[in-house]
Amino acid sequence: MSTSFAPIPPIQKRTVGGGAGGHNGASDTTPRRAMMKSTLGPGSDGQPLSLHATFINPLANPKGIKLGCELCGKPAYIQCKDCRVTFYCDKEHQGTDFRGIHEKICSLLIPLRTPVSVLGSEEERIHRDKQTRHRQIQLLELSKTEAHKKLFEGQYDLAIPAALQALRFSMDVYGQDSIQLVPSYLLLGEASIGLKQYPQAEDYLSLAKWAILKVPDCEHRIRSQMHRNFGLLYASLGKYDDALAQLSQDIYYASLVKGPSILVFLEGCWGLEEGIEGGGGEEEREVLDEAQQAEAVQMLTTIYTFRTSFAASSTGPAEVNYVLGQLHHIYGNSERAKEYVGKALEVYEAVLGREHSLTIEARNFFKSVVKVGGVGRVTSAGTGAHHGGSAGRRRSIAR
Ligand SMILES: [Zn+2]
Ligand SMILES: [Zn+2]
Repeated sequence: MSTSFAPIPPIQKRTVGGGAGGHNGASDTTPRRAMMKSTLGPGSDGQPLSLHATFINPLANPKGIKLGCELCGKPAYIQCKDCRVTFYCDKEHQGTDFRGIHEKICSLLIPLRTPVSVLGSEEERIHRDKQTRHRQIQLLELSKTEAHKKLFEGQYDLAIPAALQALRFSMDVYGQDSIQLVPSYLLLGEASIGLKQYPQAEDYLSLAKWAILKVPDCEHRIRSQMHRNFGLLYASLGKYDDALAQLSQDIYYASLVKGPSILVFLEGCWGLEEGIEGGGGEEEREVLDEAQQAEAVQMLTTIYTFRTSFAASSTGPAEVNYVLGQLHHIYGNSERAKEYVGKALEVYEAVLGREHSLTIEARNFFKSVVKVGGVGRVTSAGTGAHHGGSAGRRRSIAR
């Protein structure tokens, strides 16, 4: 098995179907290169049977548009012999793309990338556009699913082609600046972290962050996932305090999506319930449904990464206590909120000093919890708590 590296730009302009136009100024300045490790190469244990390539037919490029490699965007020299609408710089990139996504979508790309006749009535054109959009959305979902599958299997190099394809289709369907691009950026970010391509991962996650910032009422689920990926990235880079801060945000938004039961579950996993008497008890635990379990397992994996690296962090556990305190406050359980924030405050005072801004913030919050019980507002700007108003009033954990 040979190993080689090739630069991968996340985005490549489609030349067919009136696809994506140029990027705007902001994204043009973003470094868009990734190093991707491929396990396929000349001399590897044989190409799949259906992996046929031919040199590019000159007729494939009638308008003189430069054809770029599907994977890296560099000038292409070969094309897929089956669909004839997909181009590559070399066999190796074709192999990686094939195993990553192309084998699933080869024939499906033909109607999308074959130039259509401009003739026909207005009615026919509208029908055609509708059909194209429908196909693009189908391929977008398929590519996302494949990327998730490859990530789950730890095949990060193969997750990249699938995630790139998902990104292209989301751009075709929703436009360059849409919040709908975020899931694809997150997939690319996660795959890049898996490949230890950290600068590239940070680029993708930053693109996700900017897209989210432009949408104030962005779904909590998406915010949660973004923070989790940043958390994983920072943990991988050894920035444990930053990682913990991101994880706290992840937990915060996840609990807004999944409700307090996931919070109770996570507390148990953190071992944070020790020493809290009177508030606990099996009877108040809820059974997590399947989706919540999946979410919890994913978060636990992240938490495990952090816990094993805690030695490097001085206030990390306090961050988590603080966020848990805020969450309990939102869910109307002022007793537990007091416990958690009190613990965080102790650490902040001991480690950061009484006059540190975090200490002061935690102290003020602690006072407000003591004063108003479960009705007060969460004041920390850092948790983005203002987005959680309605969800936060859902129900309390301990009734
Ligand atoms: Zn290439
Ligand atoms: Zn093909």
